[in-house]
Amino acid sequence: MSLAFIDLAAQQRRIRPAVDAAIAKVLAHGGYVMGPEVREFEAALAAFCGEGSKGLSCANGTDALVLPLMAWGVGPGDAVFCPSFTFAATPEIVPWIDATPVFVDIDPVTFCMDPAALEAAIATVKAKGRFAPKVVIAVDLFGQPADYPAIRAICDAHGLKLISDSAQGFGCTLNGKHPIHWADAVTTSFFPAKPLGAYGDGGAVLTKSDEDWQLMDSYRVHGKAVALDAASHHFDHDPKYLNVRVGLNSRLDTIQAAILLEKLKIFPEEIAMRDAVAARYFDGLNGRILAAPKVIEGGTSVWAQYVIEHENRDGLAADLKSQGIPTAVYYPVPMHKQEPYERFPQPNGLPVTEAKAETVLALPMHPYLEPADQDRIIAAICGFNG
Ligand SMILES: *Cc1c(COP(=O)(O)O)cnc(C)c1O
Repeated sequence: MSLAFIDLAAQQRRIRPAVDAAIAKVLAHGGYVMGPEVREFEAALAAFCGEGSKGLSCANGTDALVLPLMAWGVGPGDAVFCPSFTFAATPEIVPWIDATPVFVDIDPVTFCMDPAALEAAIATVKAKGRFAPKVVIAVDLFGQPADYPAIRAICDAHGLKLISDSAQGFGCTLNGKHPIHWADAVTTSFFPAKPLGAYGDGGAVLTKSDEDWQLMDSYRVHGKAVALDAASHHFDHDPKYLNVRVGLNSRLDTIQAAILLEKLKIFPEEIAMRDAVAARYFDGLNGRILAAPKVIEGGTSVWAQYVIEHENRDGLAADLKSQGIPTAVYYPVPMHKQEPYERFPQPNGLPVTEAKAETVLALPMHPYLEPADQDRIIAAICGFNG
């Protein structure tokens, strides 16, 4: 029997009646766009992260990354530092606004941005003088927090803004705190397979700045006038039709917000279930394969992926597939090696990123993975000799 890589149906069986009722409620009130559930969900999301944060929902986790850059006026001549070992969305939004992504290598143990490599990349960019360092995007890759205390200190030393791309890591903590403790903006995605996923696309930004929230609220709805525009603009018609900046159409559907409100209720419990699955993998695999993943000291992961490393990665994947065990490779081609991105700066090279792309293999991972199925996966991996 084939196992699921991510079993979304198991979760749905558990919450289906509540989801059906939530959707029915939206159909009854008819506020499909920016309905009451959207505001309710934004507030619930902010309450989850704490730190006085405010939530702003949008259409997907990619738009969530560009909204703070737009609010901060990042543009031509500006450098945005980000990892290359990440999903395409992280660097993709930088050229959208005519800024330049600068690729930074990762830590070999956590797969997240290496603070020393960041420091070196900033020094190189400053020395060359072609681009002005403006923003760092750290990625909570595979679910665990980046090294925020170190990265925040570097950002402060150089006057840079910090975005936490927590599309995979939303719900992770470091020293008991969510990434919003350190980041100027935390972004996430509600793509169905993410740890907190909707039944369609969705995304959100968290911020502690009321001004940033207002600006992003403007940018997500075609640059509409918001309260902070009132002083400098006079209008006696609907401010919705006063477009004071060039924005986007990037809203979270009310139906998705209603579904996410139900999913957020069980999210803390699901994080604990994911952690138990990860611990079981670790006990079964560590020392018997190249390396089982480790989380940064003081950190917790939401385990969007459980990624092992093996010298014969492709051989292992084929062997597991023949036994009905699906795997995936994140990421086979790092972003700085992708054709449209080759032209962007990669100061000091990315040797760790390039080596990891050859060895990483993601195993089935979701809160509802049964111990018996997991034992089968562990036995198959330990029995592989190739
Ligand atoms: C999924 C993901 C995104 C983008 O999310 P979408 O909702 O698919 O646009 C951004 N960054 C990372 C690291 C992701 O994994």
